[in-house]
Amino acid sequence: MNESRYGNRDERNHYRPFKRVDYPPLFVWPLQPIKGLRWIFSIPGYFFPWNMIYVLTGISAWYLLSPPLENFSKITLENISLLFMRNSSFVAIYFGAFHVRLYIQKKQGTAFKFNPNWPNIKSKKFMLGNQNLDNIIWTFGSGVVIWTLLEVGILWLAANNILNVISPTDRPYYFIFMILTVHLWRDIHFYLIHRFIHCGPLYRHAHYIHHKNNNPGPWSGLAMHPTEHIFYFSCVFFYLIFPFHPAFAVVTLVHAGLSPAPGHAGFERMILKNADFDIDAHAHYLHHKHFECNYADGILPLDRWFGTFHDGSLEAQEKMKKRLKEQAVRK
Ligand SMILES: [Zn+2]
Ligand SMILES: [Zn+2]
Repeated sequence: MNESRYGNRDERNHYRPFKRVDYPPLFVWPLQPIKGLRWIFSIPGYFFPWNMIYVLTGISAWYLLSPPLENFSKITLENISLLFMRNSSFVAIYFGAFHVRLYIQKKQGTAFKFNPNWPNIKSKKFMLGNQNLDNIIWTFGSGVVIWTLLEVGILWLAANNILNVISPTDRPYYFIFMILTVHLWRDIHFYLIHRFIHCGPLYRHAHYIHHKNNNPGPWSGLAMHPTEHIFYFSCVFFYLIFPFHPAFAVVTLVHAGLSPAPGHAGFERMILKNADFDIDAHAHYLHHKHFECNYADGILPLDRWFGTFHDGSLEAQEKMKKRLKEQAVRK
């Protein structure tokens, strides 16, 4: 598969896709209802492929791979361990699949790889001098632990009737609506907390850990300081203010836990057999490269609305530089 059909390389050999980062035709003015509807049901679109992977994994996690809700009326080491093992397995399989194919087997070499270099295996800025090992330690040692503890805590609230738990058979439309809009809520939440943790003190305390990865790989996705993990997985608290079902919390946490893998893969496209497809990593790669742009990483055009959007073009680069200069003058 020839990457030159899709992009070119700059003087430092960094890959630049021709395709600009863009948003689906849902939140544009004037409205484009037919195009928007078509996008929702097309592939790639709102549901397929990514959202469905997370929704189906989350639903299976609750209905097939969790103890019944009443078991959570007491917080026990057994419940915590079971959910920790379940969540760790999801992460190991999903993040591992991207890592093995792209970084161990190197199935497509550096084709479509934004940064031509492989992750650092001799760098003092990473634990054990190795970017991948450092990222994996943060992922399991902090990320999956905090994900699991928040999940157990919320299930404890539900099991003790502190939350108003609904039955999906009594309120099927509400149940489906809440599950299928997880992605939209997560977009807004991620944008807000991400801008917040870019503030000086919080950045220096926590978010700098994630930004050590200016050449990210899949494992960089959840490589965060524990403070950032608490902010990041706090998206699950949104569901406490509405009539609740445990599946809402589990799907949201699975979405937050797994979706960073393709977004940090470091490649624009993946090649499988004779086909190749966009894995939606360009917008967030630009964030890791330039820091002060593309704080959101989803389908809502929040960066465009708030003036922090970078579509990968040289014009966007100039616009960002001008914005940062003006900010510096104001300070
Ligand atoms: Zn990131
Ligand atoms: Zn950031």
